[in-house]
Amino acid sequence: MKIAVFNAGSSSLKCKIFEFPAKTLLFCKEIEKIGESGSAIASHAEALEALGIDFSEIDAIGHRVVHGGEKLQESVLIDNEVIKTIKELIVLAPLHNPANLQGIEVARQKAPNIPQVAVFDTAFHATLPKEAYLYALPYELYEAEGIRRYGFHGTSHAYLAKEAAKELKKELREINIITLHLGNGASACAIKKGRSIDTSMGFTPLEGLVMGTRTGDIDAEIVLYLERKLAKTPKEVEHILNKESGLLGICGENDLREILLREDERAKLAIDIMVRRIQKYIGAYMLLLEDVDAIVFSGGIGENSKEIRDAVMDNALLKGMKTLVIATDEELEIANECYRLLGL
Ligand code: AMP
Repeated sequence: MKIAVFNAGSSSLKCKIFEFPAKTLLFCKEIEKIGESGSAIASHAEALEALGIDFSEIDAIGHRVVHGGEKLQESVLIDNEVIKTIKELIVLAPLHNPANLQGIEVARQKAPNIPQVAVFDTAFHATLPKEAYLYALPYELYEAEGIRRYGFHGTSHAYLAKEAAKELKKELREINIITLHLGNGASACAIKKGRSIDTSMGFTPLEGLVMGTRTGDIDAEIVLYLERKLAKTPKEVEHILNKESGLLGICGENDLREILLREDERAKLAIDIMVRRIQKYIGAYMLLLEDVDAIVFSGGIGENSKEIRDAVMDNALLKGMKTLVIATDEELEIANECYRLLGL
């Protein structure tokens, strides 16, 4: 049977088709620059046409959805009620959920009779204990506004945990690992007995590690300072924190390959700050897990840059620690979820 997976971004639509149960990749294509000036593709509906998929051959469709909030904590078969909930969650994920919904809507129009499943980036972190997901803010802000750590990249961390268990020749429920998804977006996850117990991204995907263009952890008071002292609007601050910071903010470049080619002070500093932040999370998660089977590197940086992996592991406390390098595959994990949920 064939499972198609859609990953819809604000201006992109990526599709992979897998043959199950063999999990063979049959098709992979991404349409970019949707709706941008000069692009021949004006909408997600047109992008879906441009992918040229024969839906009569597809048995199930899986969709990546970034935010499932507290209501959607595991993969679900999509119906009108689910769509309504994903819409309600736009307030928590204004940059992502609308695009994910577009992907769902065009696929449902095109293939109304094929079962469609939503798989959430937040779902793997539904096992976080309260002391990990609550911020030390007034408790009413959690109750009334849902302000808490949700964590993201969950589909990737879940996939990495399963693959790590295979490499460690153990059951998933037996492994304690730290997974590092290091790409343009980056996050760390502490996985105890196969379940997420802490993760670096928080209420939004802005918190945690230093990323390509995102700050990761900063003192929240900096935001107020920017608004008060420099008269920045919330929109401008959002842009600074999400698009002008991270590696780009420090050295003017967010592509690590380019940064590694440079020899100037700022390039070196950007890497040192990024590596130090990763090490701080590893240290914290080692304490939480007490016993760590392996540190797993993934994402464009984690999979490809031995230099960064070596820099992260260059610490006396990490001597002898097993490291695994695993290529993540979020689309395959979404297809796995479809297959499991639909009992196919
Ligand atoms: P991703 O978002 O997972 O596609 O990762 C993108 C990041 O991975 C960018 O910073 C790339 O520069 C980095 N990257 C990809 N390939 C390599 C490589 N061979 N060496 C170092 N960094 C790489």
